[in-house]
Amino acid sequence: MIVMDGKHQSSILRRDLKKEIEKISPSSPCLLSLMIEGSSEADSYVRNKEKACNEVGIISKHISLSKHVSENDLIECIDRANQDPEIHGIILQMPLPKEFNQYRIFSHIDPRKDVDGLHPLNLGRLLSGNPLFVPATPLAVLHLIESYGIPLSGKKAVVIGRSNIVGKPLSLLLLHHNCTVSITHSQTQSLANETLTADILVAAIGQAHFVTSAYVKPGAVVLDVGINFAQNKLLGDVDFDSVAPLSSYISPVPGGVGSLTTTMLLQNTWKAFKLQRWS
Ligand code: NDP
Repeated sequence: MIVMDGKHQSSILRRDLKKEIEKISPSSPCLLSLMIEGSSEADSYVRNKEKACNEVGIISKHISLSKHVSENDLIECIDRANQDPEIHGIILQMPLPKEFNQYRIFSHIDPRKDVDGLHPLNLGRLLSGNPLFVPATPLAVLHLIESYGIPLSGKKAVVIGRSNIVGKPLSLLLLHHNCTVSITHSQTQSLANETLTADILVAAIGQAHFVTSAYVKPGAVVLDVGINFAQNKLLGDVDFDSVAPLSSYISPVPGGVGSLTTTMLLQNTWKAFKLQRWS
């Protein structure tokens, strides 16, 4: 069994990205994070992204909007960022207020600045097999698999979770890599019957230690996307201790997929910069 080292893969990518960005000095890509005040978790995500941007030479800007902001005010703010030639990537820090129409809001981000890959055009491009910007977490999962030389073509992949940010785009990426993919969710009947067929099993559920050995075929590659704060600890969706002995490769939490996600966002920002400057 091999424990997949997301931190190491991330440091390799960041080193290479930093070198690329240094070549265009004194220009720099710029990433804008828009967030709505009120979530300390979101605060810490934004700080981590700022730190990561600094590490590779990306300028990080941050606008924090009052928790009383209206949906239209948020859209105006997005429109201003769309018009600003010094901003190359725009991300909306989740969560947004429940009453906001996320589809409408994401539709307002310039697709060429949509480094989270959530504009309908970017989701549609991924669906059609011609992606431009793909959400960072699915890219992180794919990079982790590829960096260990794990073959995908012809393999059975089972993804638990069908969100627009993780489960669905990841399922499409795996399909484009010639996996036979099952997407499962909370209404799936006999989940274990599905997961026990998986050569590649991805857990993106949001429930700590949900996936136990009872869900895993011996020799499977197990990717844990989950980030759950429980018992004062960061826990994955996979019960590592029971699943690791069964699996051929397994990504830990922390130190697995999550370690690569921000790096994929940095890569998307660099891609957005190149697209806007040189295409
Ligand atoms: P969502 O809550 O949007 O989606 C969770 C998915 O899990 C849903 O599709 C849901 O099904 C499914 N699900 C819930 N309970 C069950 C169950 N009992 N059996 C089967 N499926 C179930 O979460 P996200 O996709 O945004 O995130 C998933 C996890 O990944 C979270 O822990 C999150 O914190 C983490 N995350 C990690 C990132 C990283 O970089 N590592 C980035 C983004 C998220 P249904 O659709 O039917 O409700």
